[in-house]
Amino acid sequence: MAPQKRPVEEVDSLLNDVRVVLCDIEGTTTPLSFVKEKLEPYITENLESYLDAHYDEEEMQADVKSLRELAVKDKEAKTEGVVEIPDTTDSNKADVIKALVKNISWQMGQDRKSTELKQFQGHIWREAYKRGKVQAELFEDVAPAMQHLMEEGIMVCTYSSGSVDAQKLLFGHTTDGDLQELISEFFDTTVGPKNESDSYKNIVQKLAQDGQEMLAEEVIFLTDIPAEAAAAVKAGMKCALVERIGNPELTDEDRMNYPVIETFDELFGDDDEEDMKRLATEGNGDAGDDDDEDDDDDLGEEEEEGDEDEAEGEADEA
Ligand SMILES: [Mg+2]
Repeated sequence: MAPQKRPVEEVDSLLNDVRVVLCDIEGTTTPLSFVKEKLEPYITENLESYLDAHYDEEEMQADVKSLRELAVKDKEAKTEGVVEIPDTTDSNKADVIKALVKNISWQMGQDRKSTELKQFQGHIWREAYKRGKVQAELFEDVAPAMQHLMEEGIMVCTYSSGSVDAQKLLFGHTTDGDLQELISEFFDTTVGPKNESDSYKNIVQKLAQDGQEMLAEEVIFLTDIPAEAAAAVKAGMKCALVERIGNPELTDEDRMNYPVIETFDELFGDDDEEDMKRLATEGNGDAGDDDDEDDDDDLGEEEEEGDEDEAEGEADEA
């Protein structure tokens, strides 16, 4: 049986004193199935022809060089299954491409998050998006919530293992249109891996550099992965786990440790369907309230138990 959701009054405080909402992408803003069933297969299906068509370009040769250097490091570290990439000569294009296909397929099969691989993937996806072969999917609550946050003066940033270029492409080509202007900063693993707290400290520092002071506790990180949440919290950030359809199930312990939301709408402390419709049409939460649907923080104390049960029932069905 699913454990009970945290009380509304606790969720209500998620955006208190928050100036930045930092979003993970896969499993948080975007279904895992989009990555697994659309983006990754696109590479598998187009890898060889892409390498062949762009082989002589400067960008491609830079990618090849960094993938080759990674393979050398992998070899030195005795990484199992590593595929080496021969040095480029005037006459060995076919051999290099053959090795690249094997190396990239091997890395993807291992679900590696190497910056070298992500960089190359970003380049192949750029062509896919620009040619209209791929359109990014977002959960339907994401774009309206990002818009709403921007209107409230809260910055939205992303932090993903996908490269910054790949993130910009994704948000630039969504089924909801080009949403890049809703996102203030994109962060990738050049700030560090997602399960290390130093990475989140680096992000706070970078946010501070872009203008004014920034405290870690003024940032809330939204992710589907508890280990990432733990790293962010260790760095002083607030955090909520996002439970989406298609994600691996959270454990009871995860639910005890972190607030859990199912949609970004819940950031606004308001999972009542009617209120969400009102927010969507008015673009803010402070108009037209009557006495019994007050948004104040003390609502929970006054709320009768019956109402809470009803709210839980609705949330479970959603
Ligand atoms: Mg994720």
